[in-house]
Amino acid sequence: MPIPTPDHSRARDRMVANHIAGRGIRDAAVLEAMRTVPREVFVEPGMEEFAYEDSPLPIGEAQTISQPYIVALMVEAAEIERDDRVLEVGAGSGYAAAVMSRIAARVHTIERHASLAEQARRRFEQLGYDNIELRVGDGTRGWAEAAPFDAIVVAAGAPEPPPALRGQLAIGGRLVIPVGGGIFGQRLRRITRTDEDSFEQDDLGGVTFVPLIGEQGWAEDGSRAA
Ligand code: SAM
Repeated sequence: MPIPTPDHSRARDRMVANHIAGRGIRDAAVLEAMRTVPREVFVEPGMEEFAYEDSPLPIGEAQTISQPYIVALMVEAAEIERDDRVLEVGAGSGYAAAVMSRIAARVHTIERHASLAEQARRRFEQLGYDNIELRVGDGTRGWAEAAPFDAIVVAAGAPEPPPALRGQLAIGGRLVIPVGGGIFGQRLRRITRTDEDSFEQDDLGGVTFVPLIGEQGWAEDGSRAA
């Protein structure tokens, strides 16, 4: 895997200035984390030169590393604080978990593809990011043993917010998740748990994500899981 180089760090600074701060992301911790995490380490070998373009890239298993602006938008919307415990569903390359690990106390991340999880795990080790726990499995069920979470970020589109994830939010916790499909497309939603049984919801705009496949998401064939 490539070692971060000065060239990459200049490209990273430019990307944050033009595509992240330049498009309205204001949270200083998010901007600093994105200036710190070497995205070139999280792309496929041979794709490093594209690491600082503001676009998703293939990572294998028909999945993608998300567009940097969308990562920034979701992490800012999750309002992550220094002492927070965060759950990510859909580790993919590991990039977004790495960004959140520079802001939060601890990040738990779940990936359904073992091959992607293994590569992400190696990247965290290479970079010395030791406050990330990763496991292979169905993230629609959350990570009950580690709950409650101050923030949950879902990197794949669900038919509805999975009840297990809502239930694993701390009071005051935020769930950021793409929801919907069909002709109306996906909307990025932030669901805040205001009390044991009450939740508030914000619509953060239209997005395009790969499907969240699992017990409380979509079935493999694109229909709604039971
Ligand atoms: N956060 C990732 C990154 O920074 O590279 C991008 C993730 S990619 C857009 C979405 C990921 O969600 C894919 O790797 C996919 O395999 C995973 N995924 C889909 N459904 C899942 C589920 N139920 N549990 C865990 N991972 C899931």
